[in-house]
Amino acid sequence: MSQDTPVKRQFGHRARLALSPAGVRTADDQAHAARTLWNLLHAWWQMMPKEKRTLANADAAIRQARQDIGFLAVLPAQAAQAVLKTYVRAWKNCWEGRADAPNFKCRFRTVMSVDIPQGRDLNIVRVHRRWGQVNLPKVGRVRFRWTKDLPVGKRAGAENRITGARLVKDALGWHIAFRVQILQARPAPHRGPDIGIDVGVTVPLALSDGTTYEHGAWLTGKEKARLLHWEQRAAQRKQHRRPGERTSRRLHRTYDRIAGLRAKAKRRALDWQHRTTTAIARTYGTVVVEALTITNMVTSARGTLEEPGRNVAQKSGLNRAISGEAWGRTVTLLTYKTARYGGSLVKVPAPGTSRRCSVCGLTTPGSRESQAVFVCKNPACGWSGNADHNAARNVLHLYRTGLALVPAAGRAVVRRAKRVKPAAAR
Ligand SMILES: [Zn+2]
Repeated sequence: MSQDTPVKRQFGHRARLALSPAGVRTADDQAHAARTLWNLLHAWWQMMPKEKRTLANADAAIRQARQDIGFLAVLPAQAAQAVLKTYVRAWKNCWEGRADAPNFKCRFRTVMSVDIPQGRDLNIVRVHRRWGQVNLPKVGRVRFRWTKDLPVGKRAGAENRITGARLVKDALGWHIAFRVQILQARPAPHRGPDIGIDVGVTVPLALSDGTTYEHGAWLTGKEKARLLHWEQRAAQRKQHRRPGERTSRRLHRTYDRIAGLRAKAKRRALDWQHRTTTAIARTYGTVVVEALTITNMVTSARGTLEEPGRNVAQKSGLNRAISGEAWGRTVTLLTYKTARYGGSLVKVPAPGTSRRCSVCGLTTPGSRESQAVFVCKNPACGWSGNADHNAARNVLHLYRTGLALVPAAGRAVVRRAKRVKPAAAR
């Protein structure tokens, strides 16, 4: 393909909805109806003999259920179809080993969501610098926060358009996630320098050129104190609950407050990750990261042979395990962002990057002095410096010596869910 060929890009965009109290109730009802429909479908699926489990039969069953059960009518017909589609896909994911078998969805642990599979009737308009308006089925016109230029109105076409949306509720209320598809010029190859990144112990991200990306605590002192207070309050109330007693409204409110503060912390962390990864993808051409695997984490926690100070080693393993999920997200963000700016992301095998000296290239026993400082014990070298930068430089060096992992080789660890009786389920 030539340089000028535009490429199709699909992405999601999430915006906060300004629903009226009545709108919130309708959206809640729709989400509960969608969940109920899923549960009915699952019960039907398990009851039916294998040869009768067809898409047409399931569709007929859904139509019948919508006629028989009054409160299911609140769910738009297209959203009901989307439930069936998601359910069938869930089985497919299970049969192909990507996920567990679909199960019943319980009221309190399921994320409330409603699918709007087609973008045609959304009728999105920008009404203000900060507000847009969208048509939600059976809810009506609703305003949402306009934080990104969406392909609507005159800018929309066969190639640039919104293909659908999904309503999702979290601790802050209802949001809308648009599915956007645009045609974009292929980015020119990034001419920026190569860079190695290490998940630091003392700093969150350490780069091989000496840059660090740091962040403070996600919650302020006051917020932390409030969170602790609500958590203690919830624990107390739970302790004094008699068996069989229903969760009180007050306890529910306390849970909501806890969830709200935790969601706030998560949102700030995600915001920091987005800003950091965008800055990195813009600046550097090739970004090199360690391919962290579970086994590496375990051995580094166990690692008593190479690293004296058992507690230190365990702590580092713990740190990594805790930051593991967030690191995975950083890598995910970097993967698509580097591609968008014409760069690339490369993974190198992780073992030894924190124990090797990046100046002489040797791993001398007892080299690392503390978590923060690396002192080379090789008598001919004796270099000392920041331990995280040392690891980041080792990561970059592994790439330059041609040790990058080829993604297609399947070395990257994919969480393989256990398969639950696929033969019987089918
Ligand atoms: Zn050295």
